[in-house]
Amino acid sequence: MPRVIVVIGASRGLGLELCHQYLVRGDKVYACCRKPEQASELLAMKQEYADRLETVPLDVNNEGMLKNLPHAINESVDILIHNAGIYGPKQRTFDQVEAKDWMEVLHTNTVAPLMVIQQLADKVSAGHEKKIILMSSKVGSMGDNNSGGSYMYRSSKAALNSVGKSLSIDLKDRGIKVAIVHPGWVRTDMGGPNGLIDVETSITGLVKVIDSLTEAKSGQFLAYDGAEIPW
Ligand code: NAP
Repeated sequence: MPRVIVVIGASRGLGLELCHQYLVRGDKVYACCRKPEQASELLAMKQEYADRLETVPLDVNNEGMLKNLPHAINESVDILIHNAGIYGPKQRTFDQVEAKDWMEVLHTNTVAPLMVIQQLADKVSAGHEKKIILMSSKVGSMGDNNSGGSYMYRSSKAALNSVGKSLSIDLKDRGIKVAIVHPGWVRTDMGGPNGLIDVETSITGLVKVIDSLTEAKSGQFLAYDGAEIPW
């Protein structure tokens, strides 16, 4: 039986490469994204892996779609990876941040991951590997913040880290391990062309980090190369 991997935010960038690498490894992948019918690279992947790739329509901020998730993924899940995220409007100084934009970033990056996990935790605890992965960012680290700015994105990922840490404690009795991960600065739509690494390097590293996630490591904040990141 192939393992079952769920990738939330699978249309492009890091999420798409996660789908690709797990499919190459022989796993079954549920690729959740806002508009599967427009995700051209995912559709191309489906041609090659028709028997092991399922697409599921999901806007993580849409309550009805969230409620549909356990029906769309009607089997136990080995690894749930919440990758979907947004940066929000760029280059806003502290006096330019607008509450409406900030709320959208917080909802997408911090609130929605927990809403997704509420829907799928039972399926993960019924799975063999029992792993939940939250795609965070080093930008959310207080210890690493030497440059200021990025109010919306930084705060959303710092709060996501807090969500992940609590989950690692609350889900321990159900055998679920939680990793909070940083993919590196990656050349994607979000990371831009100056990113230090490509998606393949980032995801190859993250897949190793996920492979080596044990109960002892649950609740840690880890980079794609396995290094622990300060909170
Ligand atoms: P990206 O290329 O901008 O892709 C973002 C993904 O999130 C897309 O698949 C997008 O789907 C999805 N998404 C956004 N809002 C969504 C929503 N409401 N519902 C469902 N899906 C949604 O970004 P990326 O670089 O691959 O980043 C992926 C994750 O890594 C993010 O959480 C990001 O914060 C984190 N990260 C990235 C970097 C970097 O350097 N790239 C560094 C640190 C952390 P659509 O196609 O529908 O928009």
